[in-house]
Amino acid sequence: MAHFTVIGLGRFGVAASLELVHLGHTVTGVDHNSKIIERYVEELTQAVICDATDESALRELALDKSEAVLIAIGEDMQASLLCTLALKNLGVKEIWVKASTRAHHTIVSKLGVQRIIHPEEEMGARVAQALNYPMVNNYLSIGHGLYVVEVHIRKSLNNSPLEQVVADARGSVQVVLVKREQEVFNQVGHDFVLQANDIVLLCGTRAELKYLAPRLL
Ligand code: ATP
Repeated sequence: MAHFTVIGLGRFGVAASLELVHLGHTVTGVDHNSKIIERYVEELTQAVICDATDESALRELALDKSEAVLIAIGEDMQASLLCTLALKNLGVKEIWVKASTRAHHTIVSKLGVQRIIHPEEEMGARVAQALNYPMVNNYLSIGHGLYVVEVHIRKSLNNSPLEQVVADARGSVQVVLVKREQEVFNQVGHDFVLQANDIVLLCGTRAELKYLAPRLL
């Protein structure tokens, strides 16, 4: 369990905060709007009214106790930048910022922010992936054009040998592991037999994984 601080309780900040709480962490939510703070005072570990551009007010939040601070102010770029600068001055090591524009991204990255999030673009790309490969539940880009995808095996593939499913793409597509209820198989040979509802993690290029897609439907 870790402690996080989320600054700006708009839709994005609230979603991130509530999910962190759901995952078992403690969260301080910060907003300058007292009505918003009243709304989340019960659901978050702590909810604080504070102008995030005011460095001395931020100092009172004991941010060094947070594993990371997420700045989730999108619309008011000036406030987001001033807040980033204040956190840097206060020595906060792990700062994540939601950026609304390219200019916002550029300035924040010049300030040395570790992680800059573009929710609309990132979500748009995810939705496109899901539309393109409806059998893929989750994917992770691991660089150099490689992806790890999570595939849920359909009923129609029950009792199919893994080899039949990954077929000639097998040379390049790697089967990372197969999860079956509580069990994890991380060394699966050609003769491994799939069951419906198995979750298979595959690693390969977009083209290789796309080639496999019709076999997984
Ligand atoms: P959403 O996540 O809903 O898309 P958004 O990107 O439009 O939000 P804003 O609405 O600008 O972002 O800001 C999110 C939250 O940040 C709001 O609840 C707002 O009250 C809060 N906020 C804005 N400026 C400050 C500030 N200077 N200090 C603290 N909180 C602020």
